Amino acid sequence: MSQHPPKYEHKQKNTNRYGLPDSSVSWLNPSKGDYYCPTCGQWWFSEYTIEWALYQYFSLAGYIPKHGNQRKCEGNIRVTHPLNKEEWIIEAKGLTPAKNDNISFQIGLGQILQARYKHGPNIFYALAMPRCEPFTQKANQIDGKDRECLHLHWIWVEQFEDENHVTHFNVTINCPPGSTCECQKRIKSAYVSTLSANPNKVDSRKTYVGPAQDFG
Ligand SMILES: [Zn+2]
Ligand SMILES: [Zn+2]
Repeated sequence: MSQHPPKYEHKQKNTNRYGLPDSSVSWLNPSKGDYYCPTCGQWWFSEYTIEWALYQYFSLAGYIPKHGNQRKCEGNIRVTHPLNKEEWIIEAKGLTPAKNDNISFQIGLGQILQARYKHGPNIFYALAMPRCEPFTQKANQIDGKDRECLHLHWIWVEQFEDENHVTHFNVTINCPPGSTCECQKRIKSAYVSTLSANPNKVDSRKTYVGPAQDFG
């Protein structure tokens, strides 16, 4: 890995893309996952990888994730459950080389507000983001009362590499203060029980060689 000249700016144009772990999400281009810089090795956890991870997570928890219709303000991902009336409208946000992460968070909030016209007691709204700055700080600045009123959840996604260079994803759902939905607990337990009944389901994720690997 080499250094950049002073004042070098990372942009989408001078970065490359890692692929997604697999092509299981029909609406995502499998060659467009996280951004990385071929010179210095820096990488950016993209919203596409977030979408991919959410798709796997909700599918394994027994939900049906679909591509949201943006014109109908359904979020990037619309998730329904085959047995109950629960529905999720999720906007995914990620890091980009362009340093527009604050704006991206603001756009996400705006998109959630616009999606609220689809009002219903069984609809959960969420902004899904990498668990890092500036997203964690921006999320903390939002008043809990407003989140409760909007039924607005945060979904935090982390990715990490194990000793075999296999990338794993962690999804954590944070319910608005004052709510009784306990999403993290109930969805995680559905996810964990699918995985323990079908250990081979984990294997599909093991083919992914994540950002720490240099493809250049
Ligand atoms: Zn660089
Ligand atoms: Zn909840």
